Amino acid sequence: MVGQRPLEPLIQVRILAPEPLCILDSLMPELPEVETVRRGLAPCLVERRLASLTVTDKKVLDRSATAANLEALRGQKFRSVSRRGKYLVLKLETRYLVIHLGMTGQLTLRDPEKADSPGFRRTITGLEWTEQYQPDKHTHVHIELDNGKWLLFRDTRKFGRIFVLPGAPEDLEAFFTRKRLGLEPFTPDYELTSFLKRFRGKTLRLKSLLLNQAFVAGVGNIYADEALFEAGLHPARRASGLRRAEKERLFKAIELVLERGVRFGGTTLRDFVNTEGEKGSNQEMLNVYGRGGEPCLRCGATIVKTVISQRGTHFCPECQPRGRSRRHQSR
Ligand SMILES: [Zn+2]
Repeated sequence: MVGQRPLEPLIQVRILAPEPLCILDSLMPELPEVETVRRGLAPCLVERRLASLTVTDKKVLDRSATAANLEALRGQKFRSVSRRGKYLVLKLETRYLVIHLGMTGQLTLRDPEKADSPGFRRTITGLEWTEQYQPDKHTHVHIELDNGKWLLFRDTRKFGRIFVLPGAPEDLEAFFTRKRLGLEPFTPDYELTSFLKRFRGKTLRLKSLLLNQAFVAGVGNIYADEALFEAGLHPARRASGLRRAEKERLFKAIELVLERGVRFGGTTLRDFVNTEGEKGSNQEMLNVYGRGGEPCLRCGATIVKTVISQRGTHFCPECQPRGRSRRHQSR
């Protein structure tokens, strides 16, 4: 049986074997992955109408997604597809449909007119092979559009959530206030003064600080490690111990790694696919994440894999010294 299956992509083999923790840590789509999905959805949804919505497992529904609220979506036109942190926001005429992909959530578009091709054959759970393009037992929500196409929400672990909110902008704002989302990268909101202010009173380790969605929205385990590498900061350092120049480096590094993630269509270590069912390629651009034991691409030192704040964390001991970096100490 096993011998008949196509070989798994190299990147998965490399990470599955030596770094089991990595898999759990990497399951959650972060800003670049969610943005990749948003970009795929927008041209297919905007100005289309929602013809029907079928839910086969209510576990993925938030309390706000009542039967009445879901029914109200029928016939409504999609006005826009936006994103806040890791949340996708589908604006319809009188409601917002807000989707969080959780750990293994996938949103794909299915065109019944188009024949399934072998190109859509993907390993989804790491345990089984399935037709990504076809709904299966993990496809919990089917949304049919007025042009006959389908938007499918598939989630093996069911940590994803679907919310239905009233359609006024203040309702959406209140929702995100309750979710305590911090600065939004790539918006005017993300500027240095606000960023520096958020360090006040913070004694957390840098890794924890970056994972906290109330600090900068959308950063998760992969991009936190990558941003700290770019900034040359050790993940276990305390936020309170950073000099201004170091905070400025981190400010720039976060946007840099997120921008790169978006440019390469997101990072796929296992589950993430875009709306066409295709993997991202940013995993090939990672400097430290998933590279424990391998040489640093900048200095050749061995990348360290450790656990900080209960999360698998990767860093270069040379490029990210534990103490303040020398160039700042000498001042
Ligand atoms: Zn290095």
